Amino acid sequence: MKVRTRFAPSPTGFMHIGGVRTALYAYLIAKQNNGSFILRIEDTDQQRYVDGAVEVIYSTLKYLGLYWDEGPDVGGNYGPYIQSERKSQYLDYAKKLVSEGKAYYCFCDEDRLENLKKDAELRKIAYKYDGYCRGLSLEEAENRIKQGDKYVIRFKMPKEGITTFDDKVYGPIVVKNNEIEDLIMIKSDLMPTYNFANIIDDHEMEITHIVRGNEYVSSTPKYVLMYQALGWNVPEFVHLPVIKKNKDSDKKLSKRDGDATVEVLKEKGYLNEAIINMLALTGWSPKGENELFTLEELIQNFSVDGISKGNAIFDNDKLAWINSHYIKKLDVDKLLEITVPHLEKHYDIKDRLDWVKELVLLYQSALSYGEEIVELTKLFFEKDIVLDEECKEFMKQEGIDNTIDVFKEEIESITDWNGENITNAINNTKQKSNSKGKLLYMPIRIKVSGLMHGPELPDTIYLLGRDRVIDRLSN
Ligand code: GLU
Repeated sequence: MKVRTRFAPSPTGFMHIGGVRTALYAYLIAKQNNGSFILRIEDTDQQRYVDGAVEVIYSTLKYLGLYWDEGPDVGGNYGPYIQSERKSQYLDYAKKLVSEGKAYYCFCDEDRLENLKKDAELRKIAYKYDGYCRGLSLEEAENRIKQGDKYVIRFKMPKEGITTFDDKVYGPIVVKNNEIEDLIMIKSDLMPTYNFANIIDDHEMEITHIVRGNEYVSSTPKYVLMYQALGWNVPEFVHLPVIKKNKDSDKKLSKRDGDATVEVLKEKGYLNEAIINMLALTGWSPKGENELFTLEELIQNFSVDGISKGNAIFDNDKLAWINSHYIKKLDVDKLLEITVPHLEKHYDIKDRLDWVKELVLLYQSALSYGEEIVELTKLFFEKDIVLDEECKEFMKQEGIDNTIDVFKEEIESITDWNGENITNAINNTKQKSNSKGKLLYMPIRIKVSGLMHGPELPDTIYLLGRDRVIDRLSN
């Protein structure tokens, strides 16, 4: 059987990285089995619909390279791929189940349900619809519908027995049928609930592996019962762990956390390769030591056995580490693309693009994400530098003032400002001041940059420019 997976987002706004991770895993499972990856837009909850959200879904997936084989825009043999366009079939299936005695019309109004809920609360038990309309005859129900009574269609859960399924991540899940509520399949506006629509669509689209967040685990037995009632094969389930911000928090990573959307990460200068790589590791552990994978390599290496049951952590430090790995491999144009817009926002760099290019290249190996360039290169733009305690302490050492004086003279005598002459100036200083190693380089570095660490010293000095260097050495 050909493997078919789907990503079924609801267009409710920005795409949360949890959703993108689901898309990635579904994509990988399809691709490593030579299967198809399908995009289905679940827009039946019109109240949560956000204009433009579908475009965000398209652009995010494309940005990350997760191209779908079938979907609203590319078509396919199982369309339409937008749930609201599939509306008529849900009602037909629901009515079929009603006619077979496996579902029923329910006329209970809001007030009655509210009272049931309040009652359950008072008795401190979990609310569950009491099955009041379950016994209505079909004839009676149809008469009430003719009279214009509002109704929903509920699934008739079996009262006895157990239902089980074997989740690919969480293992066997077993529930007692009498604990399951008669869930609503069709709402009073005649739209399907997610609970019903997902099984109809997944069946109609011949989806073999349902990959989604583990918030759906507890509902899955209900879906299994509906598949069975419809006489359909039950697909495989791959439920994914919740993503947390860090291991100590019980907070789920939410859209309100700044970093939780691909847009924000992209905007900050994280590369698509790094985001994909990090998302792959958020809930999946590779077999060996290596944690760096391109999308192509993930297709080869990903495996459902490696998905963890416990919470997954979206680790910003690890993302930065992975991103710096990919930044080191960038060509200049791409490097400029992720850094220059940030520099422009903070500094006046008009007419200095050649210089900016050299500056950015100087920091390529140190850079974790595009926006970080602003902080890293601050010393090239701000007039004054402020030394921290460690630098001040270092500069108190004997002989350092002399080293600086000698170096300043050497720098002032340079007529042709280039890296080679700056290196010579450092070497001459070594000889004339009789200082070497840390006592030679560190005072110079601290004096010109205000920092104890940074890129190659001659390059740094060169890009700072003669005047600024002399100025700082004189202070
Ligand atoms: N539309 C659902 C969501 O966005 C999809 C869940 C599923 O994959 O079945 O949460």
